[in-house]
Amino acid sequence: MTFTTRFAPSPTGPLHLGHAFSALTAADMARAQGGAFLLRIDDLDQSRARPEWEAQLKGDLAWLGLTWPEPCRRQSEHLTAYRAALEQFTDMGLTYPCQCSRRDIAAAASAPQEGAPHFGPDGLIYPGTCRARPMAEADPGDAIRLNIEKALGTGPLPGFMETGPAHAGHHLLTADYLSHGIGDPVLARPQMGASYHLSVVVDDAAQNITHVVRGEDLFTATFLHRFLQMLLDLPVPTYHHHPLIRDDAGKRLAKRDDARAIARYRDDGLTPEDLRRMVGL
Ligand code: GLU
Repeated sequence: MTFTTRFAPSPTGPLHLGHAFSALTAADMARAQGGAFLLRIDDLDQSRARPEWEAQLKGDLAWLGLTWPEPCRRQSEHLTAYRAALEQFTDMGLTYPCQCSRRDIAAAASAPQEGAPHFGPDGLIYPGTCRARPMAEADPGDAIRLNIEKALGTGPLPGFMETGPAHAGHHLLTADYLSHGIGDPVLARPQMGASYHLSVVVDDAAQNITHVVRGEDLFTATFLHRFLQMLLDLPVPTYHHHPLIRDDAGKRLAKRDDARAIARYRDDGLTPEDLRRMVGL
């Protein structure tokens, strides 16, 4: 199969040096393999996504010298695909509606009988408060979660191949890590439809992505993504998690770090080659 990778930014703010590094790393790998580099617009959160940011991010990526096939996939145009995947989980009896707020989760997770709170890819691990609620009780304001314990009964656990520098090798999923390191993930949110975890596995399969190239911060989420792929019987890409670009204080860059925005460097007269050098490429 042709090497196919993607860069999937959210149009919720300016792209910064970390995004430049991620997109260039993916595109360089695709070029080296004679493969394809796709751009995907992760605009599921319609309360924050803006067409101006989408236009700007495309301008920044083009300035960096990147090209991709148009029209690119925009998540907001594929809600039916995510809904279908969610229904598959529901038909398997693996979902439940959850009405807990962040504050409820923090309170339940810090109850004395729970011991020290545990953190997973989405922050505090969900303590399972709503797990016994049937889907028939689902209210439009509820999130939908996957019951990991139940899903573990579905079959033997698979693994995935990682080629990134920090964790290169084959990684096997374990029941212990899924239950205690990840916990019941949100599959759908009230306003957004699908969660990131559900949409990313559906999209990567729909776009025949053979190599997922993305930041190291998503390495642990990959165990969940591989589990969702197993349950939905989706093809499995190889993963490559690259190091994060950090600021001078060692903190990872965020969208609000406007000082590191690609657009700022462009305006200051730097060249794409200067940016490549700055991120170590
Ligand atoms: N929109 C996601 C992000 O920017 C994409 C992550 C991924 O590549 O899977 O974090």
